[in-house]
Amino acid sequence: MSYREELLRLRGERVAGDSGRFEVIDPSTGEPVGSAAKASREQVEQALHHAKAYRSPLSRFERAEILRRAAALLSQRADEAAQLITAESGLSLQDSRYEIGRVSDVLLFGATEALSDDGQVFACDLTAHGRQRKVISMREPLLGVIVAITPFNHPMNQVAHKVVPAIASNNRLVLKPSEKVPLSALWFADLLYEAGLPPAMFQVLTGDPAEIGDTLITHPAVELVTFTGGVEIGKRIAERAGYRRTVLELGGNDPLIVCEDADLDRAAALAAQGSYKNSGQRCTAVKRILVHSGIAEAFTERLVAATEAWTYGDPRDERNAMGTVIDEAAARLLERRVDAAIAAGARLRCGHRRRGALLAPTVLDRVRPEMELVFEESFGPISPVMTFGSVDEAIALVNASRFGLSSGVCTQRMDWITRFAKELQVGTVNVWEVPGYRTELTPFGGIKDSGLGHKEGVQEAIKAYTQLKTFTLPW
Ligand code: NAD
Repeated sequence: MSYREELLRLRGERVAGDSGRFEVIDPSTGEPVGSAAKASREQVEQALHHAKAYRSPLSRFERAEILRRAAALLSQRADEAAQLITAESGLSLQDSRYEIGRVSDVLLFGATEALSDDGQVFACDLTAHGRQRKVISMREPLLGVIVAITPFNHPMNQVAHKVVPAIASNNRLVLKPSEKVPLSALWFADLLYEAGLPPAMFQVLTGDPAEIGDTLITHPAVELVTFTGGVEIGKRIAERAGYRRTVLELGGNDPLIVCEDADLDRAAALAAQGSYKNSGQRCTAVKRILVHSGIAEAFTERLVAATEAWTYGDPRDERNAMGTVIDEAAARLLERRVDAAIAAGARLRCGHRRRGALLAPTVLDRVRPEMELVFEESFGPISPVMTFGSVDEAIALVNASRFGLSSGVCTQRMDWITRFAKELQVGTVNVWEVPGYRTELTPFGGIKDSGLGHKEGVQEAIKAYTQLKTFTLPW
């Protein structure tokens, strides 16, 4: 049974509530924290027609102003926004506050990018048969509508990464946020409208993906589908999308590689951060820790100490670094995978306790690549330690995965660093950083089952959201 099928079986149903709305549940209490509308297929079609018919008159300056105003409003309301993210996702307030800082960065980078024009001028008298002309390139918004579909793990920042580049490039975007965390998306849309964004440039449709997903992907008004989420849905979207652009940012199984020369305290601190921040629910969370066998025990002892010091519990308690995972079904799935790894010979070093959707940060060693815990993406606060004997073996272990998103490397040796940078089959290699390190501006994205190689990050997203037109003239 696939990860997704198992989760759906554990959850029992996709979307609860009456036929017009569905409830949003706080994973830490099991109580409803709000509700959102269940859009019908007709409403999806209306939204897409409305977006398609609209042509934005906004200048670059006006778009930048809207994004800057939104960033200012967000900083005034940062606490309210963080509380909302925490309420619907179970992420700790510490994580949610960090997310708000990232959203603000996305807005400010978007404002700067809205002002810059990457058009180029090419001379044509370059060869023997050249002419006295120029070719000029320019980027235009898409003719059709952009549909964005986002996951639950960063309820506001994932949305910001979709919509801000769309605003910067004068597009129209229709968003379907995760049904688990729709409230942050709706809140963010209101913030943008208040900052002056014409609503036709950004519409949010909440509801049951089984009901509205297909219309969003196949409607003729849609020119681009940009999806962030799991591999299974991503590949289904790729099949259904047909002759239209797709940007797919999918799952990960990112390694942190700790070589024999590494400073072990520094490496263990990175391993803990990479595994437990955002409750381990980042596409680029550390999901496998590959440690040289000669230092594995000394490293693991330090990792256990860092893990036992990692505070977790009530997400609203400011002292807790970590809250819950997204729901009890996800926590039970992770618990079962840890049990299975232990039954197959892995050794539990600490953690592995569950209360509802709350999981203790967990360290296991003697983990082998074929165990489901590391073979599949395990989206939660678990540090599985595996060993390698040589750099060749470490590279082979990473590349054997079907995923290829990001990686972190702990070594001082330049010859090893260059080998990792060149030979790891991933989108990013971070030396002395967690795989998740990036800025909101810079290119980000994976290969293999982690994505089709398109990048996100504000600059790259603008490229994906625009068509490059050239015109030529005598000069
Ligand atoms: P998911 O694939 O279950 O859902 C993602 C989105 O797809 C949700 O909005 C969901 O409602 C929607 N969806 C579900 N069925 C659909 C259908 N038939 N048609 C259209 N849309 C449909 O993912 P999730 O559990 O919300 O998020 C976790 C996953 O996202 C992890 O695998 C994680 O690695 C991945 N992720 C990737 C990146 C990246 O940039 N590569 C970033 C964050 C998360």
